[in-house]
Amino acid sequence: MDGGSRAHPASNVCTEDRLLREEFLTFSRPLIGQEEIDEVVSAMQSGWLTTGPRTRQFEQNFCEAFSAPAALALNSCTAGLHLALKVCGVGPGDEVITTPMTFAASVNVIEHVGATPVLVDVEPDTLNIDPAAVERSITPRTRAIIAVHYAGHPVELDQLRALAEEHQIHLIEDAAHATGATYNGIAVGSGSNLAAFSFYATKNLTTGEGGMLTGSADMLDQARQLSLHGMSREAWSRYSAGGKWAYDISAPGFKYNMTDIQAAIGLHQLQRFPAMQARRRQIVEKYNAAFAGDPAFQVPTTRPHVDNAWHLYVLRLRESELSIDRNQFIEELTERRIGTSVHFIPIHLHSFYHNRYGLRPEQFPIADAAFRSMISLPLTPALSDQDVADVIEATLEIRAAYRRRLRAA
Ligand SMILES: *Cc1c(COP(=O)(O)O)cnc(C)c1O
Repeated sequence: MDGGSRAHPASNVCTEDRLLREEFLTFSRPLIGQEEIDEVVSAMQSGWLTTGPRTRQFEQNFCEAFSAPAALALNSCTAGLHLALKVCGVGPGDEVITTPMTFAASVNVIEHVGATPVLVDVEPDTLNIDPAAVERSITPRTRAIIAVHYAGHPVELDQLRALAEEHQIHLIEDAAHATGATYNGIAVGSGSNLAAFSFYATKNLTTGEGGMLTGSADMLDQARQLSLHGMSREAWSRYSAGGKWAYDISAPGFKYNMTDIQAAIGLHQLQRFPAMQARRRQIVEKYNAAFAGDPAFQVPTTRPHVDNAWHLYVLRLRESELSIDRNQFIEELTERRIGTSVHFIPIHLHSFYHNRYGLRPEQFPIADAAFRSMISLPLTPALSDQDVADVIEATLEIRAAYRRRLRAA
């Protein structure tokens, strides 16, 4: 479990009165073992580099692990979201409701199909899309909702599914953070609606780059065809023993397929997944124990009916307790050699969306305020106990150094 600390010994040196790590702690280092490396070598030696037997096996294993009705391995989650919109027939003139508290990919794909993104604010505790705000924004043009399981905490699927059913619109899940999450005891991705997972290098399960789309076998058949040029048969079945050379292009598809080299990594990441998730939870418990009682911090909450996949540990600062703002807090952490990030710069602040739709921060008060107070602390199973202790110590040290003094009466 501790591959990271072996590669980068986290020995500390004392400079002046401050404890400094020797190595900069990168925000999110993947945990890759010898099994992944050996399987990649085997895939390369097998002579089959692109989509083939390892990809099929990875899809099958993913289905079993997360009770998905069917799965399609892709070269990214973004590709999965794009295909989901295509399969749902979303196009020009349609509106898609989504959240500002996400990575731009969730919204860019709506532009890619020529539809209009309609952003609604998030819930204050989970920072997930607010079902009540979704309901208020449904119009006759609404075709789909893209719900992002922010930081690994599932959205309120029951409420969103009910809305989708009532209004005859599609629910698409951006499950980039939610591999392994459950809602009412049921795995995210096990529904018949489309859900897109990410295996980007920083995600809970990685293939370097990659993604998986889950959903009903029917919808995934269409997505599979679109994922490889719109060809009626895939290369593997055409060229393997007994295959045929003939194919048809039934729609102008895309080039979104996963390679067997990526799947080789994924097969072993999936085996390692329960242990990696257990380590994430351990780290979260340590962070919570250190920060939860302090009025300067708002720690992430998990609603009782879900299992959080803990992709991110998003600590929110209370400015009333601190004499520095979030940006300065991050600079202080960087000086102490702790890498952090911010998830996310909300969509309404990006120039394209801001300019195109005239979006204002006041339209999304919760997402906007959360953005200004949040820091994502390092959270990966590659962290050693010493790494975690260093993060906690640095954070508490900064908090103590920049305590907001009460004004004298
Ligand atoms: C990472 C991420 C994506 C994109 O995933 P890729 O696999 O890099 O395409 C989409 N949505 C969210 C919320 C993400 O964090």
